[in-house]
Amino acid sequence: MKKLIAATLVIISLPVATANAADLNKVTTKALAIQPVPCKHPKIDVIENPQGGALGLAYIEECRVEIKASHVRDDSNAYVCSTLVHEFTHLTGATFPENKSDPYHSSNPANWMYGQLVFHPKCGTSDQKRLNLEAEKERHEIIITDKTESIGELRESAKEYRKCRRQLHCRRGIKRIKQRIKKAKKQIAILQVRLTTIQAELQA
Ligand SMILES: [Zn+2]
Repeated sequence: MKKLIAATLVIISLPVATANAADLNKVTTKALAIQPVPCKHPKIDVIENPQGGALGLAYIEECRVEIKASHVRDDSNAYVCSTLVHEFTHLTGATFPENKSDPYHSSNPANWMYGQLVFHPKCGTSDQKRLNLEAEKERHEIIITDKTESIGELRESAKEYRKCRRQLHCRRGIKRIKQRIKKAKKQIAILQVRLTTIQAELQA
């Protein structure tokens, strides 16, 4: 008789537009480093419809985890890693006696052993954070494009002033433009530094 120990993991809402097919071997290695299991290497079965609509189920006596195929196919590595860390913790036989209605899960909604999926911070950037970073990246890229265009326009108008550079107001005009170009370049540089950080976080 197979003993099913893990209860259902239910997702309230799936993040959109972040789907990366999870590289299951890589993710499994990462999850095992975060949460080692007492049996040597757990078997991971990817199946279409795990019992009870769960994302993952742990079978402690078989040292085996079932994971939902669409979860592996459609969701980010960080997401799948969090599910595996949760299931591997079940394989250790962890219990939460204070949670009388469901002693296999923590009653703390911030704990990765809560009955619904909680991102494990060591699994990487969460899908929600990823969405925010993508949006921020897009905003910065738009501003950089705008500023680059306006530098081009400023350079054009500087050309006009150069034609009359003997006159004071034209020399002042060139000076003003140079200052504006300098300011725009500085702003672009700041945004580019931030974009590099965002890129690194998205790849984490
Ligand atoms: Zn569970």
